[in-house]
Amino acid sequence: MAASSIEGVGATALRSVLHRIQLAADRSGRSSDRIRVVAVSKIKPVSIIREVYDAGHRHFGENYVQEIIEKAPQLPEDIEWHFIGNLQSNKVKPLLTGVPNLAMVETVDDTKIANLLNRVVENIGRKPLKVLVQVNTSGEESKYGVSPSECLELVKHVTLSCPNLEFSGLMTIGMPDYTSTPLNFSTLANCRSQVCEELGIAEEKCELSMGMSGDFELAVEMGSTNVRIGSTIFGAREYPKKQ
Ligand SMILES: *Cc1c(COP(=O)(O)O)cnc(C)c1O
Repeated sequence: MAASSIEGVGATALRSVLHRIQLAADRSGRSSDRIRVVAVSKIKPVSIIREVYDAGHRHFGENYVQEIIEKAPQLPEDIEWHFIGNLQSNKVKPLLTGVPNLAMVETVDDTKIANLLNRVVENIGRKPLKVLVQVNTSGEESKYGVSPSECLELVKHVTLSCPNLEFSGLMTIGMPDYTSTPLNFSTLANCRSQVCEELGIAEEKCELSMGMSGDFELAVEMGSTNVRIGSTIFGAREYPKKQ
């Protein structure tokens, strides 16, 4: 049997996403080498993650601490896990001890959580943890993330006061309904320009995590280095209905 005929739906969808990223990168004169796809596997079973892993993918993202600490030990250790959900103080230690191969926390949005991550990394003696500062680019009250005007202060704090964290860039979720507008993406890019200029960081050293299933091509055209893609790879998520 030809390999393609036994390939699962997740692996096929991943290849299609990679192809669309390549086209978007070509359109905007970028190299796709610097664009990472984080396959967002929240509420999806380990078996389908394994299938996408077997197709060669290594970057996966989860939103819930309880879920990632259950799944990660059932999957290969060379997966690079990204935590992309809101992180509560009392979950920092379980996350870091439960997922030794956690590669990045994308959702640092205040000094308290940064300090705590920094301290726990030191206490458990793991290697420095890559972090992104989450920016609220929509201005909606309900969203997590610092406002664009507070971004520089938090990045300064992480780079100057958190030696066990490796500041790696900025992240945004566009609108409260998880859609994004070009303005959300350009706001994040402007935050990067300001941070890099003020702190003397090369722009290549400051990632932009933006773009999800509905808008990743636009995000790539606007400079994303890290797209977070769930439903287009794994299929629609079906949450249990609230009673
Ligand atoms: C769920 C989620 C995604 C993926 O969303 P899709 O629209 O399914 O691609 C990306 N980023 C964050 C922060 C998420 O919570």
